[in-house]
Amino acid sequence: MHTSVEWLALHGLSASQVQGVICDCFTDNLEIPPPSHSLFHSRVAVADQDHSMSALKFQCECYRDIVVPAFVVAFANKSEIEHLLSKNVEHQSLSSRGVVPHTVDKGRGDPPTILMNWNGRVEDLMCLAHETTHALQILLSNHETMPPVGRETCAFIGELLLLDHVKEHLPDLYPALVDVWYGENDFYLGSCVDALEDSLNHPDISYHYYQNYPLARLAAMQMYCSGQKDWLFSFLSSGRDAMVYLPIDALAKSAVDIRNSFPPLLQPDAAWPAVDAYRSLGVMALLDIGYGQNEFRANIGDYYLELLKHLENCTAFIALDNERKPVGYATWMRSDVDNNVTITRQTALLGQRFNMRWALKQYISTSKGVKASYTRNASKEMLIW
Ligand SMILES: [Zn+2]
Repeated sequence: MHTSVEWLALHGLSASQVQGVICDCFTDNLEIPPPSHSLFHSRVAVADQDHSMSALKFQCECYRDIVVPAFVVAFANKSEIEHLLSKNVEHQSLSSRGVVPHTVDKGRGDPPTILMNWNGRVEDLMCLAHETTHALQILLSNHETMPPVGRETCAFIGELLLLDHVKEHLPDLYPALVDVWYGENDFYLGSCVDALEDSLNHPDISYHYYQNYPLARLAAMQMYCSGQKDWLFSFLSSGRDAMVYLPIDALAKSAVDIRNSFPPLLQPDAAWPAVDAYRSLGVMALLDIGYGQNEFRANIGDYYLELLKHLENCTAFIALDNERKPVGYATWMRSDVDNNVTITRQTALLGQRFNMRWALKQYISTSKGVKASYTRNASKEMLIW
């Protein structure tokens, strides 16, 4: 699979359906299971910052005593699931650094192998639940390949099963596990959405596994909080047909009209620079109100002064489309040492982040002769596969 067109076809999805689901990432009308009802809720305070818990010393014990019971309880055929997880899943350490945790299907007759390193952290427990679901889905689907979005939806449901189990049986561990879940949300519904948007807007960009995560994360949350879990066994068993279980249309129904409703920005008037500055400030604020995520946690006075300072220092940029309608803006800081700049703020219309970043890069590199680096970057990290 090389392009987003092939990716859409494999999953039986249309670009507009996917764009509709992406809009969910920026609205508050999505129902979220415990621990919260808001996607961008602040992460909970965790007493034990290093996430090192004595209860998580050994991987085999955590698998047997925490992960397997968390899964078994959700199925009607409990003894079959317990048998599969206990006798038909292999565990191995990763052979080299830089390889992300993953699960290997060696084909019919062989047990799937979970490859990950164990350091006794809460993150490792979440990762083990994620990979265990991949292994279980391989076994229940009789090794038939599941489309990646379906596969990752299974794995995210496994994480939610773990959260529920830990909440009830290991309450001391629960706050730290919730914190990990939110941390991963920042990635799956942040950088991975950028990767997905880039892929939809620019079909020539080659497929990246990241683009599977946003839909899978949102679908898993929606399915899990529907209450009943009677579909769980057949979903994990569904192999290539997994996508019919995902509530894509329900997720996409909240899609908003993403046509650019901004009026065209007037040409700058050298005689009235102050008017231009305030017009720019207004555009930035409107973009943040409509499409920003965290900007209005700031005090309005601080927000105003920060943007004003960027305008005075010429470290702000508003990207316009062909009709001079604003599509996004960014601000940056310049390093005195190496003449590089770091982007400190960027907001763009849905589906326009790639274009905004491209225009910004052109602007900075051609006019200032410096390199830009980004604080949010789809290739910065990979948590679990
Ligand atoms: Zn995965």
